[in-house]
Amino acid sequence: MTGKIQKYSDASLYALTRVIDAADRLYASTAEFPDDPACWSDHMEALDSALEGCPGTSAYYHAKRRRENNPSETITVCSACLQASCWQGIFYCDDYKTAGTVEKTRADLEALALESSDYWTRDSE
Ligand SMILES: [Zn+2]
Repeated sequence: MTGKIQKYSDASLYALTRVIDAADRLYASTAEFPDDPACWSDHMEALDSALEGCPGTSAYYHAKRRRENNPSETITVCSACLQASCWQGIFYCDDYKTAGTVEKTRADLEALALESSDYWTRDSE
């Protein structure tokens, strides 16, 4: 076991496993049906979606931009302070123990301007 391997978190190992699995399926189907894209388009999409889970890749960046450009996307926030960072447990408000959650659109949250949009991600990584 090298020190380098230990630096990966469980989340990034999971993302890496998904990428390897998707890439291998794509490889297998293109090897078997090289002239028939219909046979491997699903695997191609699976690889795209797996890469979107890997921070630092261009697929991840483009997926993030797509989300940011969709003002009707809803974000789960704390019902007391209307902040996602509270609901995610990053910064708790005074009422977090009794508060529930509400869904707010990205446009609503932008108008409120209570916190950085960095917290408005769907995936809880
Ligand atoms: Zn709160």
